[in-house]
Amino acid sequence: MARLEGIGVGQGVAHGPVARMAPAPEAPAEEQSALTAEQETARVEEAVAAVAEDLKARGEAAGGSARDVLQAQAMMAKDPTLKKAAAARLGKGLTGEFAVHDAFAEFRATLEGMGGYMAERAADLADVSQRVIARLRGLPAPGVPTPGHPFVLVAEDLAPADTALLDLDQVLAVVTIQGGPTSHTAILAREKAITAVVGAVEADQLHDGQTVIVDAADSAVLTEVTQGQLDDAQRRIDERAAAVAAPVTPGALADGTEVPLLANLGSPDGAAEAVELGAEGVGLFRTEFLFLSADAAPDVATQREAYRRMLEAFPGKKVVVRALDAGADKPLPFLTEEEENPALGRRGLRALLAHEQILRDQLTALAEAEAETEADVWVMAPMVSTVAETEQFVALAREHGLRTAGVMVEVPSSALVAEPILRHADFASIGTNDLTQYTMAADRLLGSVADLQDPWHPAVLRLVGEVGSAGAATDSPVGVCGEAAADPLLALVLVGLGATSLSMAPAALADVRLELGRHTAETARAAAQAARAAGDAAGARGAAQQVVREAAQG
Ligand code: PEP
Ligand code: MG
Repeated sequence: MARLEGIGVGQGVAHGPVARMAPAPEAPAEEQSALTAEQETARVEEAVAAVAEDLKARGEAAGGSARDVLQAQAMMAKDPTLKKAAAARLGKGLTGEFAVHDAFAEFRATLEGMGGYMAERAADLADVSQRVIARLRGLPAPGVPTPGHPFVLVAEDLAPADTALLDLDQVLAVVTIQGGPTSHTAILAREKAITAVVGAVEADQLHDGQTVIVDAADSAVLTEVTQGQLDDAQRRIDERAAAVAAPVTPGALADGTEVPLLANLGSPDGAAEAVELGAEGVGLFRTEFLFLSADAAPDVATQREAYRRMLEAFPGKKVVVRALDAGADKPLPFLTEEEENPALGRRGLRALLAHEQILRDQLTALAEAEAETEADVWVMAPMVSTVAETEQFVALAREHGLRTAGVMVEVPSSALVAEPILRHADFASIGTNDLTQYTMAADRLLGSVADLQDPWHPAVLRLVGEVGSAGAATDSPVGVCGEAAADPLLALVLVGLGATSLSMAPAALADVRLELGRHTAETARAAAQAARAAGDAAGARGAAQQVVREAAQG
């Protein structure tokens, strides 16, 4: 057996024959066109417009976060800088194909040079360029193979346009050679519960028709597999399918300790599906969707309507609404300024307190929506760093009639002073994505430091433990709503560290419910203790695995 390592997305396992994505079309050579510059320009404009339309339509068909990603790609296609760069080349009499290829390559290099979020978007830009060139050549858009039977898709990387529209009856799993845990492939795979291993560098050795096992829980792709291994994989697939199909019970440990399992939602659109998947409420309602494509904050009535739609899906249930979290990777022209170091700048609650009316309007809309529905609304502030900020936010929430006001713990300072914070706030919710970023000083969107972006790191776990202890000391609920809660074993460790509820992408609920139900609170605490004491993330994961294995053996 051979084993290729990558980064697993989710807990899925799948087996089947490989089908590789066709390589990108050959890059056009620098050639003079037989057409006039005007004719070439018209061809390019038509191709760009058609590709942008196609991307937009794919986004509309796919919905969810794919829609935003594809709309952003469609906008990239029409970027005026690109248009100018292509026009300069067309003006020299070059072919449309080369002008597009070269202009996009230049823009891509600029983005890569900027690092961080912009560099991650470079892959999206390459996809747009290839689509435009294919269109100019009269070829179909590059994309996913159709071998006529279910297959494991192996690709260099997947463009958002491809991931969004994968036929899930045909694609058993996805393996990419490139890509990190925050690549669009990973995000969309997680959202659609596609079994995936990304960044499997050696996957370029795989060939069409070869049978492989894709084990996301183990971050590996197995080749040269035996019948015994295939049987074992199938047993795990059946076990997960049975767990997903079983009637949904509230999240709990084996000894009956309740651990409510909640949904992370980015818009009211996903609410019905979350309920179907067994969400016992919402642990993180990200409200940014209302603001991100706007030039100004939406008015109170618009916001109230959106919040009401969300709350109506959860009568009698808890819905934790996060006040607008702008800044860093989510800049908003009317709220945030250009800063040298936006992740350390005026973002989250800091930006809201500097523009208090925007926060007041949001709280007003939320209180009005709550009054119209049966949901139990909790409101929380993003990126809280101090007790003083907590006091300010809680006072404002109360002034607007919102009874339950809390804070997100996303920076080490608030984890370390969680106890005084929880004397003012009604609850804490730990955002492990940002908490890991700030604890490890590793940009969460930067592939080159992705290995440091691991919430299993004992430094992160210790901070989570601080908040858990503060919650116990002040008798306050402590939730976790970062991606860490969606990793079943880590979810158990988080409970052992004192988390009283967990919130995650709805697709992860079944796996987490299954794992929690296998262990007692005592095992959770022992696993947490062992993980905390480790020296690094891999050691922490290994130590927790060992505790769980030994507990299972009695
Ligand atoms: C987090 O930081 O863990 C979190 C849940 O917030 P977001 O991912 O929206 O920054
Ligand atoms: Mg965050």
